[in-house]
Amino acid sequence: MATVASDKTMKGGAWLIEETDPATVMTPEKLTEEHQLIRQTAAEFINGEVVPVNDRLEQKDWTLQRELVKKCGSLGLFGTNIPEAYGGVDLDKISTLVVSESIAEHASFGATFGAQANLTILPIFMFGTEAQKQKYLPGLVSGEMVGSYCLSESGSGSDALSAKTRAARQPDGSFVISGEKMWITNGGFADVYIVFAKVDGEHFTAFIIERKWAGVSSGKEEHKLGLHGSSTTPVILQDVKVPADAVLGEVGKGHKVAFNVLNFGRFKLGAMCSGGGRRTLVEAAKYAAARKQFGVAIGTFGAIKHKLGEMTARQYALESMMYRTAGLIDARIAATPDRRADDAAPMLQALEEFAVESSIAKVLGSETVDYIIDENLQIHGGNGFVRDYPAEGHYRDARVNRIFEGTNEINRLLIPGMLMKKALKGELPLMAAAKALQDEIMSPSMSVPDEDDRPLAAEVRACGVFKKVVLMVAGTAMQRFGTKLEQEQEALSYLADILIDTYAAESAVLRAADAVARKPANVELHQDAARISVNEAAGRIELAARSALAAMAEGDVLRTQLAALRRLLKVTPVNTVVMRRRLADATLAKGGYIF
Ligand SMILES: Cc1cc2nc3c(=O)[nH]c(=O)nc-3n(C[C@H](O)[C@H](O)[C@H](O)COP(=O)(O)OP(=O)(O)OC[C@H]3O[C@@H](n4cnc5c(N)ncnc54)[C@H](O)[C@@H]3O)c2cc1C
Repeated sequence: MATVASDKTMKGGAWLIEETDPATVMTPEKLTEEHQLIRQTAAEFINGEVVPVNDRLEQKDWTLQRELVKKCGSLGLFGTNIPEAYGGVDLDKISTLVVSESIAEHASFGATFGAQANLTILPIFMFGTEAQKQKYLPGLVSGEMVGSYCLSESGSGSDALSAKTRAARQPDGSFVISGEKMWITNGGFADVYIVFAKVDGEHFTAFIIERKWAGVSSGKEEHKLGLHGSSTTPVILQDVKVPADAVLGEVGKGHKVAFNVLNFGRFKLGAMCSGGGRRTLVEAAKYAAARKQFGVAIGTFGAIKHKLGEMTARQYALESMMYRTAGLIDARIAATPDRRADDAAPMLQALEEFAVESSIAKVLGSETVDYIIDENLQIHGGNGFVRDYPAEGHYRDARVNRIFEGTNEINRLLIPGMLMKKALKGELPLMAAAKALQDEIMSPSMSVPDEDDRPLAAEVRACGVFKKVVLMVAGTAMQRFGTKLEQEQEALSYLADILIDTYAAESAVLRAADAVARKPANVELHQDAARISVNEAAGRIELAARSALAAMAEGDVLRTQLAALRRLLKVTPVNTVVMRRRLADATLAKGGYIF
């Protein structure tokens, strides 16, 4: 693990076997004026136009929702990744990230926004013909038209490729489509639907279908736990006559459209969750400062400081991971020679390259925001459980993030699965690294580096150790199960947990190390957040690795591995109590998230 890679040249998953120079990593502290401006535009729109009409949206006033979509479009917020030729503003992925974070201020509008920007506009840009782009993109980007994405069916959610919707090919090349899609966001009022159907019952294919075509209708609104201000309906297709030029991409290649859309959708969902975490910390800090019990503000109690400190540290790690990943994707796109703005291929390739990181963003984002939202509700006590305060609404709204865009279980299987595939294709020398590590572990003289008291040196070392644990568990899994590994979901899920913690903790450390080099006034708080992240990750990683190894090895091999694991993970505990208190005090003083 000796190479110090620049993030400018890094490939997806390479962080696992290479070291990263903190100076090259994208962080929120490095946002440009342009990024700040688009963030402000999005924040002003959502806080000024959407949040104040929440009650009407929750009553399903879709006329109002459509007006808001139009306003959002007029501000350029749907077109951050779309070239000017199709009405977009062609900005980088960091801009998309800051917009998504801000839009998350209103979760229901966030869902409407996501279905439009990520699930309709993007697939048309990435896979559409020139005529399809000209026909649909300007209207969708401006918000004049509303889009939605119809993949799921009642019998096929995670197993989306087994859809029953059929497209019968006609002699003139057109199709007749019949079937029923389920849980479709924007279903009740969209004009354009991306619909997946099997041509002649066999070839999974994406189509662009318009609501006005005969036979297209939407069913009743679902009664949901949350997101009441977002439309979710079945979409019914009854013998819909669809012209040949409505195929999006190629017949039989619908999986390419579906999976690539999900790659980016997952990254953006992570961004929305990060925005939700940020927003929730404001509520938690304000309530903890204002609410008095036993004659003092509850924020003065250690138990509440623990919560605020931990919420802040987890938000810090999530955010660090999101910005780092956005920077990697942008660098990959920018490195394409002679890139033309209207060429979607570099973006498509970059999103595929960082599909593992996008899945990590989705899982970590949805679970971090759920943690933060749950602790916010707890800080609110009884007030957290009643509708007079927003805490309970956030709790209901956020729960679906672990379900859509691929459930977290499916994403946990994908994370190590995709990495292993890269390794088998020779794109990532994981196997060689795992073999070298195994030789090192089996050697009685395996060395553990000396303590180093430079700032964050222990944390940098710990992240290196986490990567070795990944290699140890992955190598053992490959040896034990070989090609049958994909059937070992528990082992894969443990591995995913270790990978997620490793990438997030290292992202936090890189951001804090960059802060140490730049010396901002809050540098100590950066270090606190990163050190807590590493400390907590170490505990979780040890447990996951022990459980995984115990399920895969036995006898002397297991004993040797567990002994090696103990030696590797011999991290000196740090006083996270004092660090969390510092983070909490700063959060209370600011009345919100401090970074
Ligand atoms: C509010 C909302 C909005 C939505 N918006 C859209 C939309 O706009 N467009 C769209 O197409 N869909 C949409 N969906 C559908 C959503 O994508 C699916 O609900 C999701 O993919 C899960 O599918 P499912 O509900 O059929 O669950 P299932 O696939 O039945 O899963 C049930 C459980 O089994 C687990 N499971 C399933 N398969 C496996 C496996 N192979 N290994 C291990 N565990 C497994 C899952 O993780 C889950 O815990 C939306 C859903 C909701 C609730």
